[in-house]
Amino acid sequence: MKEIKNYIGGEFVVGSGQSIPIYEPASGEQFAYLKDGGPVLVGAAVDAASSAFALWSKTSAIERHDFLHAIASGIERRFDEFVAAESKDNGKTLALAKAVDIPRAIANFKYFAAAALQFSSESYNSPSGPINYVLRQPLGVVACISPWNLPLYLLTWKIAPALATGNTVVAKPSEITPYTAYLLSEVVKDAELPPGVLNIIHGSGAAVGGPLSEHKDVKAMSFTGSTRTGKIIAEKVGPQFKKMSLEMGGKNANIIFADCNYEKMLKKTMHSSFSNQGQICLCGSRILIQKEISDRFITDFVEKTKKLKVGHPSDKETKIGAVVSKEHLEKIMSYIEMAKEEGGQILCGGNQFKLDAPYDGGYYVEPTIIVGLDNNSRCNQEEIFGPVVTIQSFETEDQAIALANDTDYGLAFSLWTENTSKAHRVASELEAGIVWINSWMIRDLRTPFGGVKNSGVGREGGMEVMRFFTEEKNVCIDYGD
Ligand code: NAD
Repeated sequence: MKEIKNYIGGEFVVGSGQSIPIYEPASGEQFAYLKDGGPVLVGAAVDAASSAFALWSKTSAIERHDFLHAIASGIERRFDEFVAAESKDNGKTLALAKAVDIPRAIANFKYFAAAALQFSSESYNSPSGPINYVLRQPLGVVACISPWNLPLYLLTWKIAPALATGNTVVAKPSEITPYTAYLLSEVVKDAELPPGVLNIIHGSGAAVGGPLSEHKDVKAMSFTGSTRTGKIIAEKVGPQFKKMSLEMGGKNANIIFADCNYEKMLKKTMHSSFSNQGQICLCGSRILIQKEISDRFITDFVEKTKKLKVGHPSDKETKIGAVVSKEHLEKIMSYIEMAKEEGGQILCGGNQFKLDAPYDGGYYVEPTIIVGLDNNSRCNQEEIFGPVVTIQSFETEDQAIALANDTDYGLAFSLWTENTSKAHRVASELEAGIVWINSWMIRDLRTPFGGVKNSGVGREGGMEVMRFFTEEKNVCIDYGD
């Protein structure tokens, strides 16, 4: 059985805590394990990163660019292995890992390699003499904590800009999906990144994430995960007055007006509802449809959803792979039961799905569509994070905006209309960090990424994250008399 080892100070280190089993969601079989580290493991990683900082923070932008490129190339060389590992560990389809997760991890390193070369700062001069210029200096050791739904994609989205700006990193991937992070540490070693610059440690949130959040030598926290965990981390990091970026949960609205491009909307709504089994923070789990087209939409959407094949992630025909864990499967099923109790009607799906042996122990859920729930029902207010969407209808633009915003979350909303004025008007009223008009999940790495309300604090992406990972220092020189 494979042991997922920690990578600290350029060496692979076996953990010493309790063993955590790693399961393949497609079969429910254990295929690996890790040893849950604790404060000692965290301390060793932070020490290694602290020792490496003096050297790494003084490297030129070109050197950092070259190292990041070498890491990207290392993943590219082992592309198929990374794709297979991500699918095995997470339950996502091989096709998705191949088209999205691993290419995006590579793109993260390449993008921030280029960003290292482009990152600059301002100067302000006055005709009478003094000149101010801004230094953007790396912070020191930074912590990056990531979730299980897009394991390598999200981990590298943090690591790459942190390294590009001259910080050293202690990264903690989800203990549920640590496999590709482990492969990444092999790539990093092969790329001869100086020891201690990037440390990847494994373990549970409580045993490893907690001590990492509390560690006095960690200068900033970049976290992606649930709002519940974000709150715990904020309570630890906040009183230390450290920088933090929190990317958290969502309950995104997909607002469909009657004057939309219907065919395009229908196709994209299938994706925004069920991609990665609905386990993307950006999925549109609340569909809001204008009354004029709601009957037509529901008929077509249900028909298409019934045709989605639930199956083994490696099967080319599969559109719905496995959800990540037994616990998560149970959580999703409990929300479907709750929907029934809340008066919801299940139009399709609603059940656990069993594959034939040897995959009969896998964690599969039928794609599920629910109608008849009030917006303040728990199923419309809480993040289910599975292949489950609800549909509600509205009549006017104002009603659509009010319904969409009636949530504690505010991550990424979509809206569909061919009326450009309405599109701009509604987009500006939506309480979200991202609004897609006539599209879903178009990602440009230069744009600010993040949420408002309970979905997050701060922005990742582009130059926003380069600024997050640096401290600005204004230097003023008066060269007058
Ligand atoms: P989670 O909050 O349970 O875990 C995320 C990470 O935090 C894991 O590495 C975990 O070990 C760690 N952690 C857990 N408890 C901790 C603690 N007390 N201290 C420090 N670290 C701790 O989230 P998850 O279940 O892995 O991921 C799903 C969630 O992530 C969903 O809510 C989803 O919306 C969210 N998410 C948000 C975004 C975004 O960009 N906003 C992207 C992807 C996922």
